[in-house]
Order: sequence, then C-alpha cells, then structure tokens
Amino acid sequence: LIDADGAARETIFAEMSALAAETGAINLGQGFPDEDPPSEVLAAAHSAMASGANQYPPGRGVPQLREAIASHQQRFYGLKVDPDTEVLVTAGATEALAASLLALIEGEDDEVVVFEPYYDSYAAVVALAGARLVTVPLRWPTFQPDLDELRSAVTAKTRVILVNDPHNPTGSVFDADVRAEIVRLAERHDTWIITDEVYEHLIFDAAHVPLATAHDARKRTLSISSAGKTFSATGWKIGWICGPAALIDAVMAVKQYLTYSNGAPFQPAIAVGLNLPDSYFAGIQQSLRQKRDLLGAGLAEAGFEVSAPAGSYFTVADATGLGVIDGAAFCRELPERAGVVAIPLTAFTTSARSHEYRTLIRFAACKRLDVIETATQRLAAAF
Ligand code: PMP
Ligand code: GLN
Repeated sequence: LIDADGAARETIFAEMSALAAETGAINLGQGFPDEDPPSEVLAAAHSAMASGANQYPPGRGVPQLREAIASHQQRFYGLKVDPDTEVLVTAGATEALAASLLALIEGEDDEVVVFEPYYDSYAAVVALAGARLVTVPLRWPTFQPDLDELRSAVTAKTRVILVNDPHNPTGSVFDADVRAEIVRLAERHDTWIITDEVYEHLIFDAAHVPLATAHDARKRTLSISSAGKTFSATGWKIGWICGPAALIDAVMAVKQYLTYSNGAPFQPAIAVGLNLPDSYFAGIQQSLRQKRDLLGAGLAEAGFEVSAPAGSYFTVADATGLGVIDGAAFCRELPERAGVVAIPLTAFTTSARSHEYRTLIRFAACKRLDVIETATQRLAAAF
C-alpha cells in the first residue's frame, strides 16, 4: 500500500482518471457510467433529503432498504433472507469486502484464495488483515479457472475463498462446474465463501447465479453487492451484504468502527431502485450489451484482439497485434497518443504473475454510445 519511499500509493483508477482529466482524454479506465441514476431513484433521494433523512441512519441500514434487499434476493434468486438479521448495509461493496475479510480472518496463518487478476482492494484488504493471498489464475481468452489449479490452491489453511462473479476486470462469468467446485472445496476444507456480485445485473447471456443458491452453501457464504453499478450511482456508495445472522453480526462488529453508517438519504432511494419492475433490470442489461458490442467491434477495427465478456462493465483486449509488449507503458502513453484512457491488466495482478497479462488492456464499456464510438475511432486513427 506504501511505496518504497514511504509515499501512499494511489489506486490505478485514481491515477488514470487524473490523467484523463489532465489530458482531456476519453476515460475508458475507471468503471463508472456517464449517466445518472433512474429518475425515480433520483427523486426519492431528493425527497428523502428534503424530508429530514440527513442524520446517522441505523448501523445495519434503514429498514426500508434492508427489506428491499431481502425482497430483491427473493424475486431474482428465490433466496429467503431475514431483513432484520441477515442483511447489512455498507458504504459500498468496498466496505462490505473490508469488513467481511477483517471479521473472518483470524491471523497470519490464514490464507485467502482469490482469482487473479482481481479487483485491487482484495489484495490490499487481505494485507491489512494480515493474511496471505493465494491466487488462482484466469487466463485469456475465456478467463475460467483451471479446476486442478483451483483444487491445489484450497487447503486446510484456507480461511476464505473470495469470488467475484461476474468478474472485474475480465468480464467473465463462472461456468456452472467452476461454481460447483468452489462450493465443494469450501465444504471439504470448511472455509468461508465471500462473493462479490456487484455486477449481478450486468450479465449478457444468462441469468446470474449467486453461489449462495448452491446446495448447502448459504451457511458459509457472505454475498456482497452494491447499488453503484445497478443504478448508475457509484458515488453514492451504498452496498450491502446478505448472509447467516451470526456472520452478519461478526461483520457488523467490524463495520461499526469503519464507518458506522453512511448515505442517509441514499438508502431509501436505493430501496426504490431495488423495487423497480423487471423491465428496468432487463433494460440496463440490454443497454450495456449494446455498448459492449460497439466497444468490441471498435477495438477489433483498431487492431486489438478482443475477448467476449459475458458480464460486467469491462472488455479485455490484447494489444499484441499493435506491437505492444508492455501494456502498462502503452496505457501511460495512450492519453497523449490517442486521447483515450484505459487500464493495463497488470494493475490487477500479483507481481509474480504479471508477465502473463502484460499485453492485456481493460476498457470500460459503461459509457454513452457516442463516447465509445469516438474513443474507438481515435484508437483506430492512432495505430
Ligand atoms: N468489487 C468490484 C468487483 C468492483 O468492480 C467494485 C467497483 N467498481 C467494487 C467492488 C466496489 O464497489 P463500491 O463502489 O460499491 O464500493
Ligand atoms: N471499480 C471501479 C473499476 O474497477 C473503480 C472503483 C475505484 O476507483 N476504486 O474501475
């Protein structure tokens, strides 16, 4: 987390967004949409603020939101969740991940198994919690784990298997046999499972299947999601966790000393969002699919080899065809050279394995169609 010279290291997203602002480049780096939340949700936030929802909400979250989360789990996944004991509202998925890992990790002998490349906060929080990170690689172009590699990563030392499905940065959605193996290994080695499902509604080909729906997995699983992606409200930082009451209590014990609570007027507004009709959720899927397709075609035209993401905000492209051997250097030059910002996949890897991802670049597709069009035209013109 700290550089050799003692300076705090900025996240790759902050660094690249600053570069976009400085150079005026189109920001296909940090994953945030360039449109507002749905009007019903915005109106609900305004009205909550105007009617006094401006002081600390309860630590577990306002009842209205916890009930909406429980009914969302029932509506989409058939999961019965008790809003009073099995739901915890958090300051985004980021806090949910941190509080869950800090609650479950006991000491330096604990290992946390994650899939690599991984969202940057995973390794940071595992380090803060004093545990050891063990990674299972996801390889171009399908980004599904090899089951033998997965089996050898999970051992008696494994405290938590941390899953992100749909996956950032690769856009992959785990196959059913991968999900089944994760659950089987967790049972066999008696580990906890934490699933980061922030892209649960941004999936293109099939309905999302939470790991908590697998037979017997629920009692060992904390399921994390966030309003940021589903409602285009990444700045509101409203996330949540569903899980067994005793685990939620343990996470709450940590969470109360991180933020205690947050987002008073946003919590009831997100409750309105979660109760929107199915057509809203189908609509965001449809709209992102169109953006993914346009981005993929544009990148291919510009000379990249493009993977086929099944979910998430992101598309990974291989820049080898453009003569690139160092994706990080390429991304640092890209704003000046092409007026576009993107993120090298090596930002999501351990140093031990970064060489396997050196030519891969992550582009965010969660932008207006005209923005994607201009960005890919700039790339095509620059190379
Ligand atoms: N997990 C993943 C996989 C993400 O992509 C993100 C944000 N982009 C987060 C967690 C953090 O979510 P939040 O903004 O709700 O804290
Ligand atoms: N999750 C977003 C991404 O992957 C970034 C969030 C952040 O800036 N920390 O782009």
